[in-house]
Amino acid sequence: MLEDATKDVLRSMVESGDWGRYHGRFVPELCRQLSEYHAVEHALACCSGTAAIELALRGIGVQEGDEVILAAYDFKANFQNVLHLKATPVLIDLDPATFQFDPSQLTAAITPKTRAILVSHLHGGVVDMRQIRKIAAPAGIAIVEDACQNPGATLYGRRAGTWGDVGVLSFGGSKLLTSGRGGAILTSQSVIAERIKRYVLRGNDAYPLSEIQAALVIPQLEALDTMNERRGNAVCRICSALTGLEGLAALQLPTEELQPGYYKLGFRFTASRFGLSREQFVSALRAEEIAMDAGFRSNHLIHGSRRFRAVGELTEATRADQEIVTLHHPVLLEGDAAIRQVVEAIRKVHHYASQIAAVAPPNDGP
Ligand SMILES: *Cc1c(COP(=O)(O)O)cnc(C)c1O
Repeated sequence: MLEDATKDVLRSMVESGDWGRYHGRFVPELCRQLSEYHAVEHALACCSGTAAIELALRGIGVQEGDEVILAAYDFKANFQNVLHLKATPVLIDLDPATFQFDPSQLTAAITPKTRAILVSHLHGGVVDMRQIRKIAAPAGIAIVEDACQNPGATLYGRRAGTWGDVGVLSFGGSKLLTSGRGGAILTSQSVIAERIKRYVLRGNDAYPLSEIQAALVIPQLEALDTMNERRGNAVCRICSALTGLEGLAALQLPTEELQPGYYKLGFRFTASRFGLSREQFVSALRAEEIAMDAGFRSNHLIHGSRRFRAVGELTEATRADQEIVTLHHPVLLEGDAAIRQVVEAIRKVHHYASQIAAVAPPNDGP
């Protein structure tokens, strides 16, 4: 369905010549639709989710010497964006139950230098943004909400990306909304929107989304709620079919109040209980043509300790670094047979775990 929409967009862009214009109607139209969909005052399009995070931090005025709190386990570029602005990443631990950003770690991390909190919803989980607002607002600390992995998700009836001072979306090549590259910034604060507009202008538009990219995202945004619902149903079926399987559990299940988005479906994989190393598990599923991967490396384990300040031992983030596996989203829209195939492949790998362990190299690779 979306493949046809994509072909139609590309064909009509070529026929009209709109594909090659600097300024046309598609970027403003996408921004209008994004701000309406999210019920925010301003939506600004830009060239990537990574650039959008940078611009969001600039928009709230993060400067050299400031501290920005984020989870130790997060998208690597988020950590690097903080450094790029010459601010200090302050890394906090994850919620042990969900492996998401843990609001209860915030109070211990705040200092007079804290300028912002950067929160990402990861791997099909959702962070309780109400808790974060409760702590950030009285302390006068800005919130950047990274909704790159869950556009259209809702928390207590309100969209992901609209809970902070600024929200960020990605239209990167593998994302739920995609134009190959691209991103957007959401805010209802005119001061922030103006600061970002001034910064990107710099004589020209230095962080642009193109007309053709915007045109490609528009039909996807229109279909997003339908697609999210279908993905959510597929996730429920996978999770209920895997209930009770030793060593593999979804990070977080949807509830009435928290409706996640599924760029990835994340699981906690416990090697000792499953009977395989994570590396063996991932390769065995890849051999079954299932798009399973290890999660992120946690930032405290891959960056020199002088580049950040750690709050506490980061035990759960270290665990997440070792235990998370993720299923990539496309299969969630491929129908019943594909969902059954995922479940059967996981059960098969579990069933033959000891035989696989005997022949496959046990060490987790790079
Ligand atoms: C993909 C992603 C981004 C931004 O990625 P780009 O590829 O630069 O668009 C930011 N944060 C998270 C959590 C992501 O998954």
